[in-house]
Amino acid sequence: MARYGLLQRKVVSEHLAGVMHLLIYTGIIALFIGTTLVFIDHDILRVLGLRLLHGDFYLGFEFVLDVMGVAFLLGLALLIYRRFIRHEPRLRNRLEYSMALAGLLFIGLSGYVLEAIRLTVEPRPWSGYSFVGKAVSTAFFVNLPTEPLTLLYRGIWWSHAIVAFAMVAVLPYSPLGHIFSTLLNIAVNAPRQLPLGKMKTPFRIDELDPSADIKLGFRSLAELGWMEKLGLDACTDCGRCEAACPAHAAGTPLSPRDIMQKLRRQLWRSDGLDEDVFASGLIDEEEVWACTTCSACIEACPVLIRPMDYILEMRRALTLEGKLDKRKTAMLTNLSRYGNPYGFDQSEKQKFFEELAEMGVQTLEEKPDAEYVYWIGCASIYDARGREIAKSVAKILLKAGVSFAVLGVEETCTGDPARRIGEEGRFQELALQNIETLKQKSVKKIIVNCPHCFNTLKKEYRDFGLELEVKHHSQVIGELLRTGRLKLTKPLSEKITLHDSCYIGRINDVFEEPRFVIQSANKDGAYVEMSRSGRKSFCCGAGGSTYWYEVRRTDRESVIRLREAVETGASILAVECPYCMQMFADAARVTGVDQSLKIKDIAEIVAESI
Ligand code: SF4
Ligand code: SF4
Repeated sequence: MARYGLLQRKVVSEHLAGVMHLLIYTGIIALFIGTTLVFIDHDILRVLGLRLLHGDFYLGFEFVLDVMGVAFLLGLALLIYRRFIRHEPRLRNRLEYSMALAGLLFIGLSGYVLEAIRLTVEPRPWSGYSFVGKAVSTAFFVNLPTEPLTLLYRGIWWSHAIVAFAMVAVLPYSPLGHIFSTLLNIAVNAPRQLPLGKMKTPFRIDELDPSADIKLGFRSLAELGWMEKLGLDACTDCGRCEAACPAHAAGTPLSPRDIMQKLRRQLWRSDGLDEDVFASGLIDEEEVWACTTCSACIEACPVLIRPMDYILEMRRALTLEGKLDKRKTAMLTNLSRYGNPYGFDQSEKQKFFEELAEMGVQTLEEKPDAEYVYWIGCASIYDARGREIAKSVAKILLKAGVSFAVLGVEETCTGDPARRIGEEGRFQELALQNIETLKQKSVKKIIVNCPHCFNTLKKEYRDFGLELEVKHHSQVIGELLRTGRLKLTKPLSEKITLHDSCYIGRINDVFEEPRFVIQSANKDGAYVEMSRSGRKSFCCGAGGSTYWYEVRRTDRESVIRLREAVETGASILAVECPYCMQMFADAARVTGVDQSLKIKDIAEIVAESI
C-alpha cells in the first residue's frame, strides 16, 4: 500500500506523466491538510482560546503551503501540456476530464489571488514567507483601494469555496474519485492477487458433484465479487495498459483500457449490473479472444489493476457456452484425443523419443534414479524447429553429465492451451493425468525449455497437490556454467539480442540467467538489448492460446517485435521459448529478414559453442 499507493512507485516509473501526477497528488494532499489546519485553528481552537498557527510554526506553514501550491500548479500545467499541446494519444479528452482540470486550476489560482488580496489589505511584516501571494500582490493589487479589493476578495472567496465544495460533492462520480478508489484497490486487492501467470482454480473436477451447475467466468457485472468491482472502479483511464498491449499494437479489436473503461461505466449505470456484456454489444467477443495473456497490461497498470484477469474470466464464460470457432474446437479435440494440441498421434511422439534415445537420452523407466525429468513440451516434441531446441538441450545436459531422463510417450500436454482458452475442465483432466504420472514416478525436479510448461508445472499444478522444483533450461545451463560443469570451448563472435519471453521473463522473473548464458557462449561477440526488454518485453503474439486460432489484426505482434530486433543491428535474435521461435521464424520469412537475422534458442547458441 505504502509503496504503490502513497509513494506511487509505478506511477512515477514514467517520467513526464509520473512527475506530473506526483506534483498534482502531493499538491492536493498538502493543500487539503493546510485548509484543514486553518479550519481547526480558526473555527475550533480560537473559540477555545487556543492557537495552532502562530509563531515560527505559522511562518513555516505559510512557506510550505506556497511551495506546494506552486508544485500543484506546475503539475496542472504539465497536464495541460500533455493533453492539449502535445496531444499524447494515450490521453483522452472527455468533458468530465476538462471540467475536473478547470476546477483544480481555479482552486489553485484563486487561492493565490485570495492570499495576495489579504496581504494587500492587511500587510504583515512576515508576508515574505507567503512569497507567491506577495508577488501577486505586488504585481496586481498593491496600489488599488481597499474597498473594491475587499469586495473582490469576498466574491473570489465564495467562488473558491463553492467550486471546492462542489468538487468534493461530485468526487465519487468525477475523474478525481480515483484518489480513493485506487488507494482502496491497492490496499484491498493487491495483497490478495494471485501470482502473475497463475489463473484462479474455480473448482476441482475430481471433487465436483456431477449434478452441480457449473458457473465459470462472467457475462454480467452482477456475477463479479465486490473486489473485482472495486478493481473496475479504480481504473483511471490512464491508458498505460493499452500502450503496452501487443494485441492493441497489432491492430486487433482489443484494448485493455477500453475493456476496463466500458465495464467501469457499465458498473455505474443504474441497470448496468445485470446486463449481458456480450448480448448488449458492450464487449465484442473478438476483443476477448485477441488477448495473448502476456501480462504487460498488469505490469503497466500504476494502480495494480489486472485487466487480463477480467478478459480471461469473460473467455471462460464464452467457452462454457461453447462459443468457440472451428480452430479452437479442433485444438481442444486434439488435446482430448491425442494429448497434444497439434493432433499428432502417438507414433509421432514415439519417433522423436527414438531420435533422443539415439543421442543417449534415457527414459525414466530406464533410469528411475534420475535427478531431473526433462519435460520437453509439445512444441519441441512435434514441431521440427522445436525438436532442434530439445536436441540442443539434451546435448548440453549429456555433455555436462546432468542426471536426467525423459518421460517418453507418457508425456502429454500440461493443459496450458486449454486453460488459457477458458476450457477449465479439459485443462484439469490433463493436469490430473500428468500429476498422477509424476507422482507415481516420484518426480520432484523438472527441467523445461518451454516457458508455458514452466509456468503451468510450477505455479498451476500446486492447486492440485503437486509441488515441483521446475527449472527453465536457461537456469540449468547458467548453473552448469557457473559451477564449471559445462565448459564452452568454441566461443561465438556474434552480435546477439534476446527476446524475453513473457512467461519466463515478466511472469516468472527469469531475466539474468538467459543473458549470462548468451554472454558466456558469445565471449568474442557483443550483446545488445532491444528498446523494450526485461519486464517491459513485447509479446511475440503466441501466448494465451492465440497461437492456435486466427485473430483479426492489421499487423502481427511477431513482426513488430522482429523490427525491434532488427533495429539493434544484431546478427542473432536469441529466444528462450519454442513458440517464440516459431513466431519469429515465420515473421522473418514474411518480412524477408531471415537471411540477415538468425533466430536461435539459447540452448542452440550454447550447443554450438561446446
Ligand atoms: S495480457 Fe497482454 S495481450 Fe492481453 S490485454 Fe494485457 S497486454 Fe493485451
Ligand atoms: S487498467 Fe490501469 S493502466 Fe489500464 S487504463 Fe486503467 S488504470 Fe490505466
